[in-house]
Amino acid sequence: MIVGHLAVALIAKRIELKISLGTWTLAVMLADLLCFGFLIAGIEHFDVVPGVERNRFVARNIFFAYSHSLLMNAIWAALFAAAYFLRRRYARGAWLLFAAVLSHWPLDFISHNPDIALTPGTSAVYGLGLLSRVSRRRASCMPLPGRRRRSAMPRALQCFRQNSTLLRRLL
Ligand SMILES: [Zn+2]
Repeated sequence: MIVGHLAVALIAKRIELKISLGTWTLAVMLADLLCFGFLIAGIEHFDVVPGVERNRFVARNIFFAYSHSLLMNAIWAALFAAAYFLRRRYARGAWLLFAAVLSHWPLDFISHNPDIALTPGTSAVYGLGLLSRVSRRRASCMPLPGRRRRSAMPRALQCFRQNSTLLRRLL
């Protein structure tokens, strides 16, 4: 969902020009950046399911509640906004950055398979799985080897129509 997060950063930059695009990008990607650090440190983990190379959103034994749970997202957002406020003394910017960091959770909730918790220490996980559905559909739209090039365009249009119908149904 990196594209979705970056879209939030670009929109935010249009709303508040005083904050650099780098700061916006850091804010919207903070949960993922923390997750990478926690994965390297062994604090968070997930196992890739064998045989699902085409769908990289499928994993099992997932634990990334410290970077991605709703509660921790709110805490990271508060810390990030506080750090910005202490440095810049700009309250509006701090509130907007708080919202930008917090925007990570609903976007991941929409796009991930059920793997996002509300708080660390709880077993219930949530996610609507939009990306899995789209990538499964896209995989079925991949051109078959040996097909003639002329047939690629109607197939691409058909896949575009399928994917837009799917997105409309989900949203
Ligand atoms: Zn994420």
